[in-house]
Amino acid sequence: MNILVINAGSSSLKYQLYNMTDESVLAKGKVERIGMDTAMLTHEPTDAPEVREVSEILDHTTAIRKVMDKLVHPECGVLKSVDEIQAVGHRVVHGGESFSSSVIVTQEVKQEIKRLFDLAPLHNPAHMMGINAVDQVLPGVPQVAVFDTAFHQTMPQHAYLYAIPKILYRKYKIRRYGFHGTSHAYVSAQAAKFLGRPIEDLKIITCHIGNGASLSAVKDGKSVDTSMGMTPLEGLMMGTRSGDLDPAIVPFTMAKQDLAIHEVNSMLNKHSGLLAISNISSDMREIEEAMAEGDKNAELAFEMYTYRLRKYIGSYAAALNGLDVMVFTAGVGENSATLRAHVCEGLSFLGVKLDLEANKIRSGEVRRISSADSKVEVLVVPTNEELVIARDTFNLVQSGNQG
Ligand code: ADP
Repeated sequence: MNILVINAGSSSLKYQLYNMTDESVLAKGKVERIGMDTAMLTHEPTDAPEVREVSEILDHTTAIRKVMDKLVHPECGVLKSVDEIQAVGHRVVHGGESFSSSVIVTQEVKQEIKRLFDLAPLHNPAHMMGINAVDQVLPGVPQVAVFDTAFHQTMPQHAYLYAIPKILYRKYKIRRYGFHGTSHAYVSAQAAKFLGRPIEDLKIITCHIGNGASLSAVKDGKSVDTSMGMTPLEGLMMGTRSGDLDPAIVPFTMAKQDLAIHEVNSMLNKHSGLLAISNISSDMREIEEAMAEGDKNAELAFEMYTYRLRKYIGSYAAALNGLDVMVFTAGVGENSATLRAHVCEGLSFLGVKLDLEANKIRSGEVRRISSADSKVEVLVVPTNEELVIARDTFNLVQSGNQG
């Protein structure tokens, strides 16, 4: 079975085509600047050179049509016909309290994703455009929605409620949802598999550190807490997001700087974090390069970033009442040996001890970076959210066909 995985944003669309017989990727790519006459499609077949094309792509339906053209193209295509795509899996950021696992997209599911627009105004409408575009271009092909929030639906009430008047939860469902759930679920399962131990026996902290960053405390294979909240703004300091701050800063700044709601939102989501403190970049590679040249702002940004990460790990070890495994994943977590070393250095009180040589090795595989006498297993686990989406889609469509 061939499965197309789609991650639709408001002006972009990423895709990966899987052959589920061996879970191989046949092709992947992205369309950027949807809505403009200079939209760019980048198509990367696994066994042929990359193709780039600039053209007018005004909506998601046209974007999907262009992707289909590439997938069946005589030179850069990987399929004879689009009929060879048996199902499509979508990343959907917000599943609210309605979805604790992936689901086949039905009219009811679409209604529910729409109802959740309020909670994820930047993401869910874009995902809906992706789903509707597939309906148009590949009519009758089953679609599956895989939610970033689903894995965290196991959090207990004391972890997901905010200490604010309860009517806000009852009326607007203001609570902690958490994100990156697909990744936290995948890397915690991979860690248990690598260690050859049942996940039910393990207390795990997964650190997904990319442009966006979040931690999850995983017990018995279930998320019991996570650092992102009602939106992906809460928690760790990130590339351009502030993470935790005193909520009183928001009305104070709005009053002093005469800011509108969208301006303060933009400040906290796009102009804060590493970027604001370093004054250089939101990209950890550039921060590390600047640090190597002795840039004090970059040093401060790095120190704040890792200090907050360490504090969260400490608090999650308390939430779990112990810690067996720590996992680093995503762009920064998988690639920055400097960051991992710095974070772990301050966790010796938990019995965390890194093998500094193992920490430096890059492999793209699951690997242990803790020393033999470390009380906590520290692992680097490459995440693969697209593969999880493809697997969930495959399983749901298979069982639907059998049922
Ligand atoms: P996203 O959250 O957008 O999915 P990724 O998980 O791909 O992001 O992470 C992207 C980030 O990973 C980049 O912004 C960069 O800071 C970081 N990164 C990638 N490679 C390295 C590296 N070798 N060293 C440090 N940071 C890296």
